[in-house]
Amino acid sequence: MALGKDYATQECSIARALEIIGERWTLLVVRDALYGVRRYNDFLVHLGIPRAVLAARLQTLTAEGILEKRRYQDSPPRDEYVITERGIALWPTLRSLGRWGREQFAEEKLRIFRHADCGTELGSYGECPVCGTVVPVADVIMEPGPGLSRDPADPVSRAMLAPKRLLEPIETGQV
Ligand SMILES: [Zn+2]
Repeated sequence: MALGKDYATQECSIARALEIIGERWTLLVVRDALYGVRRYNDFLVHLGIPRAVLAARLQTLTAEGILEKRRYQDSPPRDEYVITERGIALWPTLRSLGRWGREQFAEEKLRIFRHADCGTELGSYGECPVCGTVVPVADVIMEPGPGLSRDPADPVSRAMLAPKRLLEPIETGQV
């Protein structure tokens, strides 16, 4: 019997969320979308996953209102996937998950997130310790941390070596 992806016996909001984001790769697609990845080929080269898996994850995330498909070119027709408010609301979850991974497995910081207005590094919950506010995702600057490779193989990772605002589209020149 195939393993179902729902948790029908669980009366639980975590289980409800996991029905959407609990599949392998899904949260990494959301992470990339928050970082500003929008185009199919950019997701493909950055994640290094099979096309069929990526297509399935994009379809689920679009159907669930976490990504929105937008036509950016008519001939040939090309769509990009833009994160919605529902998707942006996953940022604190991803941030906590990243912090947990780093602390539990003693990794060096791979990325640093700062408040665009004042340059202060964000606290554990996405707050700015200087301004005393939770920083909106669009006001977060992402930059490479000491543990990040400075010579990545794919164009998306290379584009993300420069400090950039979250949500702002990544420019790789790929269609
Ligand atoms: Zn600040």
